[in-house]
Amino acid sequence: MANISLPSNLIPADGRFGCGPSKIRPEQVAAVNEIATSVLGTSHRQAPVKNMVGRIREGLGDLFTIPEGYEVLLGNGGATSFWDSAAHSLIERRSQNLTFGEFSSKFASAASAPFLEAPDVIKAEAGSRSVSVPTEGIDVYAWPHNETSTGVMAPINRVHGDAGALTVIDATSAAGGIDFDASQADVYYFSPQKNFASDGGLWFALFSPAAIERVERIAASGRYIPEFLSLANAVSNSRLNQTLNTPALTTLAMLENQVKWINDNGGLTWASARTAESSGVLYDWAERSSVATPFVSNPEHRSQVVVTIDFDESIDAAEIAKQLRANGIVDTEPYRKLGRNQLRVATFTAIEPDDVRTLTGAIDYILERL
Ligand SMILES: *Cc1c(COP(=O)(O)O)cnc(C)c1O
Repeated sequence: MANISLPSNLIPADGRFGCGPSKIRPEQVAAVNEIATSVLGTSHRQAPVKNMVGRIREGLGDLFTIPEGYEVLLGNGGATSFWDSAAHSLIERRSQNLTFGEFSSKFASAASAPFLEAPDVIKAEAGSRSVSVPTEGIDVYAWPHNETSTGVMAPINRVHGDAGALTVIDATSAAGGIDFDASQADVYYFSPQKNFASDGGLWFALFSPAAIERVERIAASGRYIPEFLSLANAVSNSRLNQTLNTPALTTLAMLENQVKWINDNGGLTWASARTAESSGVLYDWAERSSVATPFVSNPEHRSQVVVTIDFDESIDAAEIAKQLRANGIVDTEPYRKLGRNQLRVATFTAIEPDDVRTLTGAIDYILERL
């Protein structure tokens, strides 16, 4: 089919709606430019970079109002490598993994390491979610705050199982966009290319004192832990505002700017209200549409940062995404392995609610002409 040309009033000011890498605000890139000849291209073991890491750690601590004793850690490799770190450095014997999509399933696979007992996997169908069950012998309870592949979010409430059991949350696509009580998790980890609008390759995590104690105990136990995956290493390096190996400095600079931007605007409450507004626009639109419905049927499970919308058989959602793309509105395709006739739209903190309103107008315009 020929390309449909959208009228200019139906083209959002910024057409990036992908779930990661996601929209980066121009001010973040300007912040990179400001340090182009002072910090970029200089040693990550010297004060200019270490101070930047320190400001990010402090800014994240403020943003999440971390309880006394919690620490902000970081390391190279992103959330995916954090799963392997958790298997080596955080799970003592056995984890319970809630799986309800691709990302949560991937952590369950990583937790199936040969030196651990097979994880207790509690699965729910894509588009819904499962609930933890306090169980004897489980020392890590794990689930995602937001399952990015399906657009389902889950509440963060500490699981009261065996004494010392840890609650470990994959917050990659939720952190910085959904309000929650940090005291309810022992580990809350994420990569910065989603609500933090930076690039991938690093992970950050809020660690409770109990989680740090666990990491140090496992490190001292003699278990073989590859150095790159050692969380004990991450604890000692993070305390010095460093990483084991070289981090990407532009990623840090863009992250610093985004954390400051959110904090200056009113912090997590503000960010959470903003993503709820943007996602609400899309869910309301889908509820009103005769050809679209929210994929996540239970409104309580619907994500405020990743919106998934199913279309009637009479409509080819891939064609809508293709037409949007031809007009510079990109990455509205569904998660590739989900295989649904669907659009998936990020409503991360950086995305303007008005751009989401314009997007619904653009989809309507395309639907009338398909
Ligand atoms: C994007 C994402 C990941 C993977 O992050 P990487 O930085 O690519 O490793 C993991 N979990 C969730 C929930 C995600 O959204």
